[in-house]
Amino acid sequence: MKVYATPAEALEDAMRLSAAMTRKLAIAGLPFGGGKAVLAVQSIPSGEQRRALFLRYGDLVASLGGTYRTSSDINTNEADMDVIGERTEYVFGRSRQAGGSGNPAAPTAVGVFHGIRSSVEHALGSPDLEGRTVLVQGAGGVGSTLAEHLAGAGVSVFVADIDSERAGEVAARVGGTAVDTDHVSRIECDVYAPCAVGGVLSSETVERLRCRIVAGSANNQLAEPEAAELLRARGILYAPDYVINGGGAIALVGLEQLGWSSAELDMALEQIGHTLRQIYQRADAEGISTAAASDALADERLRVGA
Ligand code: NAD
Repeated sequence: MKVYATPAEALEDAMRLSAAMTRKLAIAGLPFGGGKAVLAVQSIPSGEQRRALFLRYGDLVASLGGTYRTSSDINTNEADMDVIGERTEYVFGRSRQAGGSGNPAAPTAVGVFHGIRSSVEHALGSPDLEGRTVLVQGAGGVGSTLAEHLAGAGVSVFVADIDSERAGEVAARVGGTAVDTDHVSRIECDVYAPCAVGGVLSSETVERLRCRIVAGSANNQLAEPEAAELLRARGILYAPDYVINGGGAIALVGLEQLGWSSAELDMALEQIGHTLRQIYQRADAEGISTAAASDALADERLRVGA
């Protein structure tokens, strides 16, 4: 749910996000297609207005008869999914009290953590994170949990958030350092983990980066496709967003639709690291960007599944 300048922009975003979901589920080996819905609003609603919108949206999802199952993302939460659940069973990520598996931020963070480890191994020669530096941009559901996992593995964590109080709290909790959001792309670190908004990798920002690896949870990190090639040219390893951030979708589908145990989920989250290794090897072997290598792998899997 977002405020867009025009309905056309909202539609374009929905198409881009849907394409990413399709590849996300294909690359994770899940036996479903992918889709995304966008609620384009004039301002983010609250109270009764918000509830009415989600009930109406629930009716729309119900009318699709299970061909599409919705879930939460930017500006929507577990409570909203519970409201949708009053109108349709085709909703992932309801609260546990309402029969869902809750907010998927924690498994997303675990998947990103595995992804960072294999990225560090590929770029720097060892998966050991002790003494490495990681900049986490966005100290929300995913970023704050990721910061905890990283600190637990001996990483020096930098935390940036437009909410500087939140950045400070998370940094203090993990023994890290809060940094100003204005300087994010200039901070020297091993790994830059975008965990806030999309579009952070443009020709302009990639020129400024002083990291060896970009690996984080934000959707649609590439502001323009050329940025992937530019990252390659600069020797910066990019973990394709829809591969490394698949943990949430994997958890929702696995736990709520496929009846997985938590051990099965753990294995699937670990698999994110293996898939990234495969993508990096392919990119090296074919002399292409990691984004191109992962699109090729996802498209192959889609053809097999078709
Ligand atoms: P969240 O809303 O809990 O947290 C986002 C945080 O980013 C907030 O603290 C916010 O203040 C901060 N922020 C916003 N704009 C910023 C900016 N320009 N610079 C620095 N900080 C900024 O969201 P989340 O659930 O943690 O998700 C983070 C990102 O990961 C989003 O892009 C989301 O689409 C993506 N993602 C999340 C999941 C999930 O399971 N939650 C799964 C896949 C992808």
